[in-house]
Amino acid sequence: MSTAVREKSQAIKPPQVKDQPLLIGGKWLDSVSGKTFPTVNPATGEVICQVAEGDKADIDLAVKAARKAFEEGPWRRMNASERGRLLNRLADLIERNQEELAALETLDNGKPYRDALAADLPLTIKCYRYYAGWADKIHGKTIPVEGQYFCYTRHEPVGVVGQIIPWNFPLLMQAWKWGPALACGNTLVLKPAEQTPLTALRVAQLAQEAGFPDGVINVVPGYGPTAGAALSSHMDVDKVAFTGEHTTGQIIMEAAARSNLKRVSLELGGKSPNVVFADADLDAAVEGAYFGLFFNQGQCCCAGSRLFVEEKIHEEFVERLVKKAKNQKVGDPFDLTTTQGPQVSQEQCDRILSYIEAGRKDGANLLTGGQRIGTRGYFIEPTVFTNVTDDMKIAREEIFGPVMNILRFKDVQEVVKRGNQTFYGLAAAVWTRDIKKAYTLANGLRAGTVWINCYDVFDAAAPFGGFKMSGIGRELGEYALEMYTEVKTVYVNLD
Ligand code: NAP
Ligand code: MG
Repeated sequence: MSTAVREKSQAIKPPQVKDQPLLIGGKWLDSVSGKTFPTVNPATGEVICQVAEGDKADIDLAVKAARKAFEEGPWRRMNASERGRLLNRLADLIERNQEELAALETLDNGKPYRDALAADLPLTIKCYRYYAGWADKIHGKTIPVEGQYFCYTRHEPVGVVGQIIPWNFPLLMQAWKWGPALACGNTLVLKPAEQTPLTALRVAQLAQEAGFPDGVINVVPGYGPTAGAALSSHMDVDKVAFTGEHTTGQIIMEAAARSNLKRVSLELGGKSPNVVFADADLDAAVEGAYFGLFFNQGQCCCAGSRLFVEEKIHEEFVERLVKKAKNQKVGDPFDLTTTQGPQVSQEQCDRILSYIEAGRKDGANLLTGGQRIGTRGYFIEPTVFTNVTDDMKIAREEIFGPVMNILRFKDVQEVVKRGNQTFYGLAAAVWTRDIKKAYTLANGLRAGTVWINCYDVFDAAAPFGGFKMSGIGRELGEYALEMYTEVKTVYVNLD
């Protein structure tokens, strides 16, 4: 893969990519079946390259390699601080290659290069550094039990971990999974999303360069129902970590239960309420509401996709949002002036358009957008609906696209109740200058993260995850370590 070259114009040149193998036990291999699948540039619909298509046989080999690296390799015997050093070295290599990686992410996912470089890369690098710092600080307790015993706990790695990630933030989701898993001393098999395998493979190359022992990190691209299912039902995988749709999470949890009761952590979807009170700083709230939904082409699990606006300011607020939506530059994600790129795939594009159709049919008021742009690439106009009611399909289901739904509300208790009327509970936000309102919503909304006068703030040190059907467990921060360790209690007889 060649490095992106900055041209005189406002555009970055897309990188050239050759066909991709998979990584098992430190070796770059074709798939056992010899099959490959194409990965597509969402801005053009053209095939970027072929990628080795992993399936059950490849997952078996990868799990075997990960098991061997866990049981026999130097990984478990090395000093914990050395694992931290390797993670830091990986972070350094990602940083050194950040322009190349941002370009590769843009090519495969469609997100504006500018966003990839400004958001995805720094968050990814910081995540690895954060967990590098944890590697030699993961320890148990001594416990004053009764009798002549010395009792202590050890926080040991879970073992071989299967990780299945989506396409919306490929580099970042990989970092959220790899950082804690590796810091805790696990070995892993990653299945990236079929739509976006390229950066995962490039980071795996960098991990080799950093010096991670063979078999600690294995990457098997392929499809969910084949490679993903093989991983989640594998008898020798100790834990599966997944991010994606809640229905897929249910399939994975069932597979985990029916195989070997492997540990499961899930980060699933959301239908997050974003609540704007009349007393808010309206300039900030308009920006925050727009960003909270349209960032990453609307493809965020925590998107503020139910925008509740207090009746008193509804007209003005909507007017300002629509104006902003009309002023976006939708197009070539390598153009540095682009603010919205294509959706990730034809499938997602069709799915979003069908939601827009459902919104129209259900009687929501389409103020702007609603159409696909052109036929080359998967671009959709920034779309805004008002007069959305709680029962409409667009207010209940995750659209995962640039479609904003605006709902009206009158008072605090009402909006708390309506905000919670969903089986999701990933995130929520409130915009107000009134500390009491902010506090009431922060406590009342059942969500894993609540943002007050901000949106989409993330930090590797702070946990992220869902209440209700938005997930199980927390990623990031100290909390993620619990997802990747087993507690062992040791009694020593001193009698
Ligand atoms: P998805 O099907 O849940 O995909 C996520 C990952 O799970 C992918 O790697 C996928 O493989 C894999 N997978 C699919 N079926 C599997 C199975 N039976 N066993 C094991 N792994 C399996 O999500 P999607 O199809 O990419 O997107 C559909 C919708 O999910 C979106 O429209 C959005 O609403 C939601 N979504 C949510 C998030 C989030 O962060 N919460 C992220 C992405 C999507 P494939 O590559 O073959 O699909
Ligand atoms: Mg899928």
